[in-house]
Amino acid sequence: MAWMSPWVREALRCPTCHGELHDAGPHVGGAPAALVCAVCRVSYPVTDGIVHVLGDEATSL
Ligand SMILES: [Zn+2]
Repeated sequence: MAWMSPWVREALRCPTCHGELHDAGPHVGGAPAALVCAVCRVSYPVTDGIVHVLGDEATSL
């Protein structure tokens, strides 16, 4: 299921390395629980379809 517009998903990059983010965790309502940067080994939480890539919400894997 497309939980995010393709162009938004494409534009969404890791704020640290600007690499691609990958879906992670169980999907709720079509959206993943988090997006992960495999390069930085950081997880960005997704709540209500909103990805939190800024601030202190990112957690190291
Ligand atoms: Zn990164």
